[in-house]
Amino acid sequence: MKITFPHMGNIYIALKAVFEELGVEVIPPPKCSKNTLEIGTKHSPELICIPFKITVGNYIESIKRGADTLFMWGGCDVCRIGFYNTLQKEILRNLGYPIELICVEPFKNIKEINNFLQKLQRISGTKNYLKIFAAFVKGIKLLNEVDDFDALVHKIRPREVSKGEVDQLYDKFEKEMYLARGYKEITIIIKKYKEALKNIQINEKRDILKIGIVGEIYTVVEPFINLDIIKRLGNMGVEVHRSVVSSEFINEQLDFIPFIHSEKEEVHRAAKNYLDTEIGGHARHTIGNTVRYAQEHYDGVIHLLPFTCMPEIVASSILPTIKKEKDIPILKIILDEMTGEVGYFTRIEAFVDLLERRRMYRKIV
Ligand code: SF4
Repeated sequence: MKITFPHMGNIYIALKAVFEELGVEVIPPPKCSKNTLEIGTKHSPELICIPFKITVGNYIESIKRGADTLFMWGGCDVCRIGFYNTLQKEILRNLGYPIELICVEPFKNIKEINNFLQKLQRISGTKNYLKIFAAFVKGIKLLNEVDDFDALVHKIRPREVSKGEVDQLYDKFEKEMYLARGYKEITIIIKKYKEALKNIQINEKRDILKIGIVGEIYTVVEPFINLDIIKRLGNMGVEVHRSVVSSEFINEQLDFIPFIHSEKEEVHRAAKNYLDTEIGGHARHTIGNTVRYAQEHYDGVIHLLPFTCMPEIVASSILPTIKKEKDIPILKIILDEMTGEVGYFTRIEAFVDLLERRRMYRKIV
């Protein structure tokens, strides 16, 4: 069995480690690129959301490299994610790829975790349940460590004294990650680069703008689809915080286990006056986290959403009310395969300019 999975930011690091710990051959898809998007767009329904198209592209690129089993997140939801796996399986079968697709359901209780572990058991062919459980725990640990590392990158980049140092370091980190095998090697690399990051000289006195990113998880965490917005903003001297990341997403599924903590309750409480129910995807988080950013005096919020994303369209109709009531600037950016880089960055630069002037004005009056 040669397994692959779709890209979504750095989630590949944890997935690769889990499977390698279990002795399964992993064929990670190449980094998302124009080629990935072109392949995915060609074989997907025209109006479907962009994560669907890119993940189809990931699968086909991996299959061409020899993968025969696809591992993906799915299950029942009120938005399109609920039928991603069925439709993608159909598309790949129609293209003549004899693949097996293993779909993981959200972990809502011990039974679901057990189902997941049984799927890992089938993939790896091992009967040792303890080994499987240990690999699963290591995967979750790595996911949290990688997200912590990224958060540190986002803090240091806008403050670095010598421009480009963080980016150079991050490029090296990614190259080493792609070659690393198993939990131990990956952990050592994360630790090494965390230390290297802390050694970068920073200007602590710099007056830094703070922007929170809300929206659909794929568009927030996958740099290819958001045109590396976090890096761009960081290089413009803006500290960026992502409201939804893969580790938090998994922690929210598992927080019925006493030692796992997530911010789900706080987010729902913050969203309560505007949206008090689940409507799919991360819409409730978009609302709750925008309120939280306003409460924490962030300078502004950027809302990222895929074209035709149902939950985020609803969220975007509520955000203008929050913007008015909480007095926080919000920029909405819709992403699809037609997104033009020039127009996109012009809007972002204009937004940052507005936030800087707003801050200056507030200091004067
Ligand atoms: S949240 Fe939006 S983009 Fe994601 S699967 Fe659902 S509809 Fe598509």
